[in-house]
Amino acid sequence: MKITANMYTLDMNLNGFPIYPVLLWSEQDGATLIDTGMVGSFAELQEAVAATGTCWTQIRRVILTHQDIDHIGNLPEVVASLNGKVEIWAHEGDSPVIEGKQPLLKMSQERLQQMPEASRAAFLKLFEELKQLQVSRLLKDGELLPLGGGLEVIHTPGHTPGHLSFYAHEAKLIIAADALRVEGGQLVGPNEPFTPDMPLSLKSLNKLVGRGAEQVLCYHGGLYQGDPDTAINKISK
Ligand SMILES: [Zn+2]
Repeated sequence: MKITANMYTLDMNLNGFPIYPVLLWSEQDGATLIDTGMVGSFAELQEAVAATGTCWTQIRRVILTHQDIDHIGNLPEVVASLNGKVEIWAHEGDSPVIEGKQPLLKMSQERLQQMPEASRAAFLKLFEELKQLQVSRLLKDGELLPLGGGLEVIHTPGHTPGHLSFYAHEAKLIIAADALRVEGGQLVGPNEPFTPDMPLSLKSLNKLVGRGAEQVLCYHGGLYQGDPDTAINKISK
């Protein structure tokens, strides 16, 4: 889905539910992916990028909003397909996991054991492949990136320690990642069972308001167009 001439959502699928990685484009800086989708959906990611009219080899960097498996799932394939000529940007709170130095926060041995064999094999392969990767740039809260018409980094810990949201100035849009969701057209808080520090995640939401946002893009649930500040204030208090 086209948001602006420089910003598209990559409409993908996770167990029957839509998820929304983002593609940013600029003449000068090439293409940037924000998140990569669930493990095992690399072909779907490539199709979603092609649907925006972007050539795959124009991807220069991948920003990870956080370490969860449905966000980093295709990262090794993305890097391999571009012969390693792609930067990986993330927050230092999650970068050791993205580099395979620490286990995923929400992937216990118990959860792995309960999985069907094929999924477990795919997950274990991913964990091995992550060890080959290096985060090339650590993003800091408040940084303004010259991507997609101006992209401000907002550190929103709680769902994970290094969880990032962004404010896209041109689109007047908050890229909330998993800090917020859309359910039945309404903006709601993060998914509690998968949010280890719920009080912190609600506190982080205060950093998203007061920016003049007119829309919010949630990785789970998609686009919310209404009065973001009022809706977010209701959730955070
Ligand atoms: Zn997620």
